[in-house]
Amino acid sequence: MDKQELEQTLVLLKPDALKNSLTGYLLSQLSEFHSGLHLAGAKIVAVNRILGEEHYAEHRGKAFYESLLDYITGSLHYDEAWKRRVVAIVYQGPDAILKIRAIAGPTNPHVARQDKPGCIRALGTLVPIKDAEGNTISERMDNLIHASANPADAEREIKLWFSPADIPPMMHAYETEVCDTWYGYAGGRLITAPEPGSICLFAPGDVAWTSDLETIRRLAQGLATAESLNYIAAKYLINDARIA
Ligand code: ATP
Ligand code: MG
Repeated sequence: MDKQELEQTLVLLKPDALKNSLTGYLLSQLSEFHSGLHLAGAKIVAVNRILGEEHYAEHRGKAFYESLLDYITGSLHYDEAWKRRVVAIVYQGPDAILKIRAIAGPTNPHVARQDKPGCIRALGTLVPIKDAEGNTISERMDNLIHASANPADAEREIKLWFSPADIPPMMHAYETEVCDTWYGYAGGRLITAPEPGSICLFAPGDVAWTSDLETIRRLAQGLATAESLNYIAAKYLINDARIA
């Protein structure tokens, strides 16, 4: 497959899409017939705080950040914890990133309705965020869908949500490597030998993203890394009952 064919993007059907029973409509809008793109990976995820924080790392510290985490973890749209899910999908094909961003439309649902009626986010809503005194301090945008913004974000996000084993090998867009060492996670720490209650991240023989293994090796040596341990661990902790 040539490089252009291999362009990939991450899509999340967010909790408001599930709540409003729009998943079928969204998948139809994104289907090969409409987008010309192919499915490379898909999973149902109960988003935990670690994954939410890593996914929205660029927004850390902003006024709407906490509200954004409540949104993506599903607690804003569902009282019942078991219903809090997103659908995570990797789409692949020429110009995948731009094509999906175009079908999704502008971030702000009001702008979407005005500038691009018919796009997915034109069906979204704006929700006021209030402080303890009830004053509106910001707005949350419930815009139904996430779509990677550029190739660097797409790579970061796909590797955050999907391990190589979640994607057919012939559709791997990023380099993989077979791990030869055991690495685990215990209470937010990286460990190199199993302990009671620890979670295995990599075992010898596992196929992993090469960049993840490079990061984990540096972390094990106490060296500086661009991504944190939680960025690497998050996808291996997806749907793990031990992680809140
Ligand atoms: P997404 O990353 O979800 O595809 P986007 O790339 O169009 O959306 P980002 O700037 O990455 O927009 O923002 C991520 C999400 O954070 C948005 O989808 C929206 O829900 C929320 N958000 C972004 N900017 C604001 C803002 N100024 N006020 C409130 N919420 C915001
Ligand atoms: Mg974004």
